[in-house]
Order: sequence, then C-alpha cells, then structure tokens
Amino acid sequence: MLMPADPPSLYEKRKGVYPKAVDGFYRRLKWAIMAVTLAIYWGTPWFRWDRGPYAPDQAVLVDLAHRRFYMFAIEIWPHEFYYVAGLLIMAGIGLFLVTSAVGRAWCGYACPQTVWTDLFQHVERFVDGDRNAQVRLAKAPWTLAKLGRRAAKWSLWLAIAFLTGGAWIFYFADAPTLQRDFWSGTAAPVAYATTALLTATTFLLGGFMREQVCIYMCPWPRIQTAMLDEKSLVVTYKAWRGEQRGSLKKAQAHPAEFGDCIDCNQCVAVCPTGIDIREGPQIGCITCALCIDACDAVMAQVGRPRGLIDYCTQEDADAEQKGAPPRPALSALLHPRTIAYLTVWSAIGAAMLFALGARTRIDIAAQQDRNPIFVRLSDGAIRNAYMVKVRNMEARPRPVTVAVDGLAGASLWTDAMAREQAGPSVTATVPADSVAKLRIFIAAPAAGPSRQDFAFTLTANDREGGGDHEPARFERP
Ligand code: SF4
Ligand code: SF4
Repeated sequence: MLMPADPPSLYEKRKGVYPKAVDGFYRRLKWAIMAVTLAIYWGTPWFRWDRGPYAPDQAVLVDLAHRRFYMFAIEIWPHEFYYVAGLLIMAGIGLFLVTSAVGRAWCGYACPQTVWTDLFQHVERFVDGDRNAQVRLAKAPWTLAKLGRRAAKWSLWLAIAFLTGGAWIFYFADAPTLQRDFWSGTAAPVAYATTALLTATTFLLGGFMREQVCIYMCPWPRIQTAMLDEKSLVVTYKAWRGEQRGSLKKAQAHPAEFGDCIDCNQCVAVCPTGIDIREGPQIGCITCALCIDACDAVMAQVGRPRGLIDYCTQEDADAEQKGAPPRPALSALLHPRTIAYLTVWSAIGAAMLFALGARTRIDIAAQQDRNPIFVRLSDGAIRNAYMVKVRNMEARPRPVTVAVDGLAGASLWTDAMAREQAGPSVTATVPADSVAKLRIFIAAPAAGPSRQDFAFTLTANDREGGGDHEPARFERP
C-alpha cells in the first residue's frame, strides 16, 4: 500500500540572524530617530505643567486613582473618554497615512520593537563583536569565556529592559514621588509588578524573539501589506539593473553579461530580519533601509551609481525600467490616497481641537425623587424634589447658580435652606475638580399640567466657562 507523503510541517525552526554593522544615511537617520523616541519616552513623565494648587503638575499623567488623563493643558474626565477614542482614531489614520506614503516606515524606524531590538543588537556587537564573531560564538561550545560574554550581554539587556519598565510606570503617578517610593520599597505593589512584567517582556522580545515578532506575532505587517499599492514607497531591488548578478571578477571579465549586483551578499548580511530583498518585496521587510546603505557602499567601492537597492514606488520602478531617470523618493509622497488620509486626519484633529476649546468645564445632571413623586404644601403649592449633580472640571472652586427654565412661578431651595429662603435660583460653590450633590426642592403653583417639562440651567458665576442645562419634569396630582 502506498503511504501518503509526510505533510509539510507548519513549524519552522528559527534561523539565527546576526546583522552586520553598517553605516550610511539611513543608519544615521535610525540613530537620530532612536535618540528622539527614547528621549521622548524617558523624558515625558518628568515634564512639569502648572495646573494650580488643586491638580497634579505632571505634564502627561494617567491618574487611574482619580480617573483623569492629563496631557499638558488638556484634562480628560472619564465621561469625556471619546477624546481619547478620537486620539486613537487619529493615531490609526496617521499610521494609514504613513503607510500609504512611505510604506512600513513605522516598522523600520519608530516601532518600540524595532527601537529596542536595534538597541539590543548594538549591545550585542559591543560585547560579542560584529556578525562573524557572533556566528563563531554561537557555534562555539559553552566555555567560561562564552558564559562570561553571555552574562555581560544579558545583564546589559536586563538593565535596558528594566529602565523601560521603570519609565512606563512614571506615566501613571507623580514621577519624582514614585521614583523615591520605588527605591525605598514603599511604592504600590502594582508598580513593582508592572516593572517586572515589562522588564521580562522587553528582555525576551528585544533579546531573543526580535524579527519573529515582526514576521509572526505582529498583525500590523498583514494590514500594511494589504494597504500598499503601486504608489507606495517600498525598499526595492532594481532587478533590471542588478541582474544577471555575478562576482566582481566575472563582471569585470564579461561586462556585457552581468548587471550591477556583484552578489556580495552585504544587503543580506546587514538585514535585521535576515531576508534577501533581491527576492522581491516580502512581509519580513520592515523597510529599515539598512540594505540600501550596505549596497550604496558596495556600489561606491566598485564605481557604479548608488541606488541599486532604493526606496521606490512600483510605478517609478516600471518607468525606470523603461528608461526614465530615477525620481527622488520624496516626490512620491503626495498622491490621491495620502491626500485623502491627510484630509480625514486633519478634519478629525480640527474637530477635536474645536470641541476641546468649546468645552464648558461645568455640567449638570438631575434625577427626580420617585417616592413621593410630589408633595402638596400647606399653601396649596406642589413640591417636587431632585438630586442635582454639578460637576466642576476645573482645578479651582467655582461658584455656580442653578435655576429653572420653563416652569412659571417656581421657587427653589436646598435641604440646607429653609422654605422661607426659597427663590428663583440657588447658588453653591463646587470644589475644584469634583462633583457637588445638591438636593433641590421646587415648589410651583398647583394649577398646571400633571406632567410639565422644564430645564435646570447652570451658570458659572465667575463669568468664565459658560454653563449647561438639563431637561427635567415637574409632576402634579
Ligand atoms: S549589496 Fe548590492 S551588490 Fe551586494 S548583493 Fe546586495 S544588491 Fe548585490
Ligand atoms: S530587506 Fe532591507 S529594508 Fe527590508 S528589513 Fe532587510 S535591511 Fe531592512
């Protein structure tokens, strides 16, 4: 009986990737972006922002205990979470915009996985040496010397990973206080647990899983590849110029038979995901452009024009293949899709800015007592009672006036007042950054509809920040 052939395995063992050091324009650009992103990440929690005596002075703070999000002059309350949703939508559209303009630039330059993997690889080169030394060390048996190098490298990785976890927790509490508490052992257990978790994940993802995160774990490459089109900038090997590839010796001996690629494999050696871009665009390419730097250096050495591997759109590649001169990569940035994304992104940003600017910072909510619904007073008037909540979202106490609109002859008083003190409105001072609960009674003439709609109106007495109103109902027998 014929046995079916073994089914192909769905598991592929990881092949070690030992990227070689390279220098060039894109490498230096990556250094600059790494420095800026890390500086922003580590520095942001230490920026101060004066919000007065009633609010924290940390510029960016996610205050979980008090359910607030502070970002410089903006303060978001839980019921305003739609602003955070708006920011996330803008971030998503921003990524679409970047992808349609410059391909996977996020992956290649700014993604935390890329930044920390890059950092870890530099530590690796510092401790183990460059690519060849790393390959030799990986194959070498475990000796004291190898153990020492591994211990040194892992310790440095752990230190970087620890600083990462440590920086993250500072976004959730006052950074200087938390730092003091952390080292004195008096910080909340969740701070130590978060730091430990982030230290472990950074150590594993940046140190050991690296390109596997980009190729297998992260969903973004799948989404991005679906968004790329013939107008997107991607790292392209210009096969029509490079092929037939062959060694420099052969190419010099038979120049008519060979293209510009001298098959030196430098583009593969420097690739952090270990792919060969000469096989065409692939999901493993994070468009970091280090292969461009490597190949440009090779082209300079053999006296051929740079750009055998380059940022290029499919359209430009087709035109170039037909003889058109190479177009500067930046000229491909503006096309209908990037303009559409930019328009939507700007519109959402402008709408959010307008909404933020128009926020009243005080609001009112009211709930009518249901038991009893109404009371007939000795003078014949009908009384309803309400629980009125006035929210002050500013970092200072605010005097306010609550009145009614649409209920003729109504008089108001609170449970802290006598009926004789009732009037057309009541005043209160709402403490900073809090909600005041006022139990308000309303008396109105008995003559009228059994259910009458009206509105509570709220006015800020300090003449700033506008007001609010809340629909309500007055009920009679
Ligand atoms: S670095 Fe350039 S020349 Fe060398 S193999 Fe890659 S494409 Fe060919
Ligand atoms: S192929 Fe080139 S651009 Fe793509 S990941 Fe490798 S080095 Fe970076």
